[in-house]
Amino acid sequence: MTISVRFAPSPTGRLHVGNIRLALVNWLFARKAGGSFLLRLDDTDDERSTPEFAEAIEADLSWLGLGWDRRARQSDRLQRYSEAAESLKAAGRLYPCYETADELGLKRKSLLARSLPPLYDRAALRLTAEDRARHEAEGRRPHWRFKLDHAPVAWTDLVRGPAHFEGAALSDPVLIREDGRPLYTLSSVVDDIDFAISHVIRGEDHVANTAVQIQLWQALGGTVPGFAHLPLLTDAGGQGLSKRLGSLSVSALRDEEGLEPMALLSLLARLGTADAIEPVRSLEALIAGFDMTRVSRATPKFDAEELKRLNARLLHEMPFAEAAPRMEALGFAGANERFWRTVRPNLGRFAEVAEWWQITHAPVTPAAPDPGFIAAAAALLPPEPWSEATWGVWVERIKAETGVKGKALFLPLRLALTGREHGPELKNLLPLIGRNRALARLSGTVA
Ligand code: GLU
Repeated sequence: MTISVRFAPSPTGRLHVGNIRLALVNWLFARKAGGSFLLRLDDTDDERSTPEFAEAIEADLSWLGLGWDRRARQSDRLQRYSEAAESLKAAGRLYPCYETADELGLKRKSLLARSLPPLYDRAALRLTAEDRARHEAEGRRPHWRFKLDHAPVAWTDLVRGPAHFEGAALSDPVLIREDGRPLYTLSSVVDDIDFAISHVIRGEDHVANTAVQIQLWQALGGTVPGFAHLPLLTDAGGQGLSKRLGSLSVSALRDEEGLEPMALLSLLARLGTADAIEPVRSLEALIAGFDMTRVSRATPKFDAEELKRLNARLLHEMPFAEAAPRMEALGFAGANERFWRTVRPNLGRFAEVAEWWQITHAPVTPAAPDPGFIAAAAALLPPEPWSEATWGVWVERIKAETGVKGKALFLPLRLALTGREHGPELKNLLPLIGRNRALARLSGTVA
């Protein structure tokens, strides 16, 4: 079987961690099987869909490295949806309804008041040709409902296991709106058939849609695909993420938090699986480690702090070859391997490398809480050439000469040399600062 999946966001907002988890699981499933990944923009809602959001979706996926083999836009395929609707009408499976939203609301209310499920009563099926003509003459336009089979619908979900619905317990869904526009329930199945989608992997908020859509697949003569419904992410306290999705958008995590794509992908690939979350350096390694059977039904908890920790761990292990072009792009020409190895253990985000470039290559305002001690230390600074051993030699001399040791020795020196209380190991930093600069800073000069 050729594996073919799709990620189908609506371009009505920015992608966030919840969408990306679905995109990623689809992508990994396809790549692992040597199958294909379709990016489908569900943009039939033209009040809310915008070209800007569509572009941003593509840019976000590209930044993450989740490339697609095919791309489709539902707004380009309206003709196919009306053909499908016509075939359903011809088969007696799509029927016109004239109720207004208010009338439907009243029906719902009265059913609920009698503790009955708010199912559509199929009143429109009983309309005569005259009734319909009268409605049309009143200026009403019909919306169209799919006539479900009152038969059981079952599938074996790749995540949830056996799933079962009674057709009679579902409302006939509206497929075509009054203005003639198709709704997602229809357009999605038409696309999945036309693009020969083998597996639909999506959020568990679509489980009931699946029951309806399986009947639609059958009515349209398509092969019903496999299904996997993933539980939606919550925050660490088990609450839905909906209110925080702005700050958890890919763009915010990239542009405001400055996170690495692999940090986000490492977390989202393993969240809600039986596998431990750990930093993974490459998409190839993620693909190799991916196993759909490890994705669990349990609600995955998204923790932004965990994401930051993964980001830091990736940076702390990042090889120079990967960091070098990025440092060059930031304008740090000549940032060598020794510099990178010195500063990377202190980075939470890549951009922080700039701070340490400044400190080793540009004037720093030193802080000297204890000028007497600093002056004594400066007089003991070994001559060049300097290496990583220089710091140890210097510290021994200072201890012997002044009797100062421990934090009382290290902190004033760090402040004088870097202007900071924390930072990379001084034994590595010192040779990068160099003797002239170090001496000047120790004497209180901006250097
Ligand atoms: N546009 C739909 C959504 O974002 C797609 C659902 C599906 O994957 O079928 O929820």
